[in-house]
Amino acid sequence: MLNSTSIDQYAVFGDPIQHSKSPRIHTLFAEQTQQKLVYTAQQVPAANFETTVQQFFAQGGKGLNCTVPLKELAWNFAEHLSARATLAKAVNTLKLMPDGSIYGDNTDGVGLINDLKHNHITLSGSRILLLGAGGASRGIIAPLLAQNPQHLVIANRTDSKAIALMQEFRSAILAASSFSALAGQQFDLIINATSASLSGDLPDLPEKLLANSGSCYDLAYANQATAFVTWGITQHALKSLDGLGMLVEQAAEAFYVWRGVHPETSAVINILQAERFK
Ligand code: NDP
Repeated sequence: MLNSTSIDQYAVFGDPIQHSKSPRIHTLFAEQTQQKLVYTAQQVPAANFETTVQQFFAQGGKGLNCTVPLKELAWNFAEHLSARATLAKAVNTLKLMPDGSIYGDNTDGVGLINDLKHNHITLSGSRILLLGAGGASRGIIAPLLAQNPQHLVIANRTDSKAIALMQEFRSAILAASSFSALAGQQFDLIINATSASLSGDLPDLPEKLLANSGSCYDLAYANQATAFVTWGITQHALKSLDGLGMLVEQAAEAFYVWRGVHPETSAVINILQAERFK
């Protein structure tokens, strides 16, 4: 039960949620920026989403993050949307506005771009392959296109979904493919936005997709190397990274949406990197 007269309340809702690092990240941000707030994680099945969110805000909650499988429900729930959330058709950040309305934003794309930049991965002029056509891909296609790659190819196990995204995000430098039709092509950056790593699986990819000095990035993260990060290493990737940095960067942007303050992310990424190998 929230107490509206006490410290500002924030939370992440999702299902499953027990391994979420978001409470740790936002607590570190709050300490660093000297903001007084509490951030908790709550398991919320999709069927209970609307009533639980209404209850949270009615009891004085100030902001929410929504993760799998709630991002599309959050998009429907929000009364106002940022331009990037409108495009993504997915919301990971809800904010109670001063007039009592609920604002929805999507910080996944900016989170990915910021982490790629911090890791010195070149996007402008690069040949980029995006694997997956689910909610996470929806949030990152427009931010990737805005970096002026040479081209961006979306490939998905169910190729009709990749084609649908290409038609929706319409751009001369955007293409869609099945996994098998990628054979013979090469990419400077391969981004895994499938959820395959969560079950230790790899997308079924042709050989030799990664160009010399190319890099790999898995949106998934774990305490040990994900299947895709390991695959990147076997392909001699210059860098093969998981999504921990993106997680911290998207959280920093959500923190800014709520509190108007930008936390410094690299110190928090370093703390989380050290903690996961303990
Ligand atoms: P969705 O459930 O919306 O989409 C899943 C996608 O993965 C679909 O394209 C699906 O293909 C594909 N897929 C699932 N299993 C396999 C497999 N074995 N082989 C090939 N393709 C597969 O998930 P999200 O888009 O929401 O999330 C994707 C990943 O991104 C997750 O790992 C999630 O944890 C991560 N993520 C990380 C963030 C971060 O901050 N680091 C932020 C957001 C997401 P098909 O259409 O054929 O079913």
